Amino acid sequence: MTAAGDLLIRGARLITLARGSVPRRGAAMRDLGVIARGDVLVRDGLIAQVGESLDARAASEIDAADRLLTPGLIDCHTHACWAGDRLDEFEQRLAGADYLSILEAGGGIMSTVRATRAASERELSRLTIDHLDRMLTFGTTTAEVKTGYGLDTETECRMWRAIRAAGAGPGASPMRLLPTFLGAHAIDAGQDDFVERTIRETLPAVAALQPGIACDAYCERSAWSLEQTRRLFEAARALGCPLRVHADQFNSLGATRLAVEMGARSIDHLEAIAAEDVPLVAGSGAAAVLLPISGFCTDGRYAPGRALIDGGAIVALASNYNPGSAPSPSLPFAMAVACRMMKLTPAEALTACTVNAAHVLGLADCAGRLAPGFAADFVLWDERDERALAYEIAGVPPLAVFIAGRPVRGG
Ligand SMILES: [Zn+2]
Repeated sequence: MTAAGDLLIRGARLITLARGSVPRRGAAMRDLGVIARGDVLVRDGLIAQVGESLDARAASEIDAADRLLTPGLIDCHTHACWAGDRLDEFEQRLAGADYLSILEAGGGIMSTVRATRAASERELSRLTIDHLDRMLTFGTTTAEVKTGYGLDTETECRMWRAIRAAGAGPGASPMRLLPTFLGAHAIDAGQDDFVERTIRETLPAVAALQPGIACDAYCERSAWSLEQTRRLFEAARALGCPLRVHADQFNSLGATRLAVEMGARSIDHLEAIAAEDVPLVAGSGAAAVLLPISGFCTDGRYAPGRALIDGGAIVALASNYNPGSAPSPSLPFAMAVACRMMKLTPAEALTACTVNAAHVLGLADCAGRLAPGFAADFVLWDERDERALAYEIAGVPPLAVFIAGRPVRGG
């Protein structure tokens, strides 16, 4: 019997990523589950069927003419909720100032904190939607968005509400959003007992707004120490919050080992990971979230992506979109840099920002694959070979982006 649906894409090169278990490790990261010429039927916002020459009809049909259809890209590490800009800092760094010295002098993250504290919830929400729109232009359909520019209970909760509002209600972004609590993004020298207050007051307040929200920390010199991070994580774990950590960006302070020991969901950055920690991460259940745009924008250092994948790690890739160290909304750009500087293959890069990124966000059974029952989030590219996505640098946006079966760009 002919199947019916709302949308039918015919004749696309399908990157299904539907074979094998999730998360992907090692050689499995290179299996994209390609169907050279296939169709996708959508019903009620979900993928109903995927295959060759489907016996199906739909209210709306699109002939892809052999172009590439991939799952919507998933950006599992962003700071897309912020106010103000860091253009002065951009010039200072071009003139030779380094990222951590600017932070130590009260600039960097703290300058964004001041601008964010001064913004209303409505302004913050509107700015977040603007940032998400830019990400959507390049094919991102699901994004994690961190708090962390409030650094006090009131503003961290306001950021959380602004992120929530950016993804729901009138004028909201169509993108799927997952907030993460990053009250431990910097040390606010202007507050007495800042660390203690973040652990005892701010974390529980945000976890009351969203029980089970992921808890993240920036463990780095001039930011959170290893001991402070451990205390935060113990409190977060007691509240049932999954753990994520910014570790080894510029200095290896031990946060990677701490994260493995505490069963963290992800360890992000890893540009300065100690060689002996690579097999530890690879053998663990924590995903290594690589952020190549940060290395590109700061000191030219990159995480050992090749060694992590060859060692068997769960590797994901994200933009780290933020106004300081990674002002780019583009996952294709992150893929392009990861291939060249971390020696990922184009297939690994695509797996890293689809199925493995979905795993990092706890969405592995509903997003990141073209398979029946999954969200009908996908991207139609004006390309016929998936390697082209990481090959072209700062190239043109996709032809069309769909979320829940609806065209949200192009189409
Ligand atoms: Zn970050």
